[in-house]
Amino acid sequence: MISVSEARAALFQLSSVTEVEQVPLAQANGRVLAQPVSATRDQPPFSASAMDGYALKRHEVELHAMFQVIGEAAAGHRFDGTLKAGQAVRIFTGAPVPDGADFVVIQEDVGRKKDLITILNHPGDSDNIRPRGGDFSIGQTVNAPRLLRASDVALLAAMNIPVVPVFRRPVVALISTGDELVMPGGTPGPDQIIASNTFGLKAMLEEFGAEVRILPIAKDNEPSLKMAFSLARDVDLVVTIGGASVGDHDLVAKVSADLGMERSFYKVAMRPGKPLMAGRMGKTAMVGLPGNPVSAMVCGHIFLRPMIQSMLGLQPGVEPLQTATLTHELAANGPREHYMRATVAAGKVTVSPAQDSSLLTVLADANALLILPPNAPAQRPGETLQYLPI
Ligand code: AMP
Ligand code: MG
Repeated sequence: MISVSEARAALFQLSSVTEVEQVPLAQANGRVLAQPVSATRDQPPFSASAMDGYALKRHEVELHAMFQVIGEAAAGHRFDGTLKAGQAVRIFTGAPVPDGADFVVIQEDVGRKKDLITILNHPGDSDNIRPRGGDFSIGQTVNAPRLLRASDVALLAAMNIPVVPVFRRPVVALISTGDELVMPGGTPGPDQIIASNTFGLKAMLEEFGAEVRILPIAKDNEPSLKMAFSLARDVDLVVTIGGASVGDHDLVAKVSADLGMERSFYKVAMRPGKPLMAGRMGKTAMVGLPGNPVSAMVCGHIFLRPMIQSMLGLQPGVEPLQTATLTHELAANGPREHYMRATVAAGKVTVSPAQDSSLLTVLADANALLILPPNAPAQRPGETLQYLPI
């Protein structure tokens, strides 16, 4: 049995970065920028008014000073002339500041009669002008790799980058195994249950940035499992669920070996999730997850997330671990790293009393996996422990 971190290191060896593809900006959210991109213009492209008011010369600004309004500048419509002494231009937010002007008095500080304005309140020091290139200048880059969020999409749009180079989403095929499984919406026989992990893992992997295909459920016989694997050619990662332990009906190890899988490891010293298996079939990485629903989901967080990140060109392996103080006593841990379903609120962590790896209700109520290292001693209330938010 290997440790969780050894297993993760081995999984990185199986994960290759996907190729670069170009996507329209409108589809770039959540994708990983693959190459640096540069602004093709300054923003703003001219000095622009930040307020509605009057553009004039700063050195002429004083209380009760009067100006003649000689024209108007609105967003998208500049004033063409040049301002002279004693003149002002009516200006609106986003409009180019006219030549000769270097100050905008906000309209609230001005009284107007026909074409004459008078400064009625002291306008303060701010010129209310956004300088050309104040946000970014032509050539300024956004570096890669970078997971693009909504605010990045807005920035790329402002930079006039309509098509964005991103890493292709890794394609993951999910194979559930088991005679007892029926798809949600199906009609289970008296001895059957609904395949749940498959859907949980699909949702999770999509959140991580993968494209997920759910393949038909493989029955617990070799031809059925072989058929499922044959549908998973050409994907980046094939994930089997169940059938990975050593029971008479656990065929994943045998069938994948028969199909030429080079095994990387089998069994990880963790709870839940010990019977994890990984390897490579040609260009496709393969991970065999345990079937118990919570085990499969926990392994998704611990192993599949860094794999997908790695395939997406992101720095993998840096888990966003956080710490919280324990609200109760906890028994000593055994030799396997334990990922306990827990709830964290206001910096305090409470472990769910029921930790059986089949309990999806407990997992759904949890927002953290509390991590107990191998052979950790018994813990007392108030102890600080690490957890993975889920
Ligand atoms: P196995 O690893 O095949 O021995 O499965 C362990 C347990 O997980 C058994 O109780 C299975 O019925 C259950 N199981 C396996 N695959 C799934 C699945 N896709 N959805 C829900 N439960 C599953
Ligand atoms: Mg099974």
